[in-house]
Amino acid sequence: MAAVIRLLRPSSSSSLSLAGRSLSTAVVTEAVKSQTYTQNPAPTAVDPKGRNVQWVFLGCPGVGKGTYASRLSTLLCVPHIATGDLVREELNSGSNLGKQLADIVNQGKLVSDDIIISLLSKRLEAGEGKGESGFILDGFPRTVRQAEILDEVTHIDLVVNLKLPESVLIEKCLGRRICSQCRENFNVASINVKGENGRPGISMAPLLPPPQCVSKLITRADDTEDVVKERLRVYNEKSQPVEDFYRGQGKLLEFDLPGGIQETWPKLLEVLNLDEQDEKQSVAA
Ligand code: ADP
Repeated sequence: MAAVIRLLRPSSSSSLSLAGRSLSTAVVTEAVKSQTYTQNPAPTAVDPKGRNVQWVFLGCPGVGKGTYASRLSTLLCVPHIATGDLVREELNSGSNLGKQLADIVNQGKLVSDDIIISLLSKRLEAGEGKGESGFILDGFPRTVRQAEILDEVTHIDLVVNLKLPESVLIEKCLGRRICSQCRENFNVASINVKGENGRPGISMAPLLPPPQCVSKLITRADDTEDVVKERLRVYNEKSQPVEDFYRGQGKLLEFDLPGGIQETWPKLLEVLNLDEQDEKQSVAA
């Protein structure tokens, strides 16, 4: 396949401006090896009030990347770009590419770097046309090669690594439901894991749909137990090295989810040095 060339725009400063360099799968850089290891970088390099953040959300399937990335994108007025959504849009479009991707996705495997970069580049280009700047990426990069390519074309301010125990991830994926009409995500799982070996217990109440969505709920074809287990295996093999890549750059913020949205959201805002109230006021001003 010819190298995927789409315009991604690198930032000239900490605020993202998309300006033209090619995102090409042919371009693979040397990872930044010399930076200091930082377990939990305070995101001080980012001026949240200036927005236009360029953040990445990492984490296993089912951890809640989509939920928190989407909330933060609303708060910070930047687009939430989930490569899983781009893949599903392609699947639903009925295109030839979509048909090829269905088998891969439904087996819990990763789509090739070339294809995913092509989908992401198209999405960024479309956003650029609408005047978007900044982003929160969810589900990308998922391989070290993708991370290296991203590094080559733009600056990532911060990488948030969401974490939950594996047993919880499986329950959460199996409990996931989507309204086929409004596309909202819900979860019927009620999670209660006892604390052990010094780890605190975790409780998560189900996130139930409103009455108008109940009869329209669907389950993702890749949220079956076997496929979820395969996706977790693939994550450990291909995506955990991406955590190491960003840890080596001192950009990785490790975040153990303390529970459901009610407990997690305020804690996440706290570690990100964000204040929901201030943000709302400054957005309204
Ligand atoms: P998950 O719940 O596993 O995090 P996503 O919705 O992010 O699921 O992605 C769904 C599927 O789309 C993945 O299992 C994979 O097949 C494909 N996909 C999404 N993002 C990428 C990526 N960056 N690289 C390769 N494949 C991807």
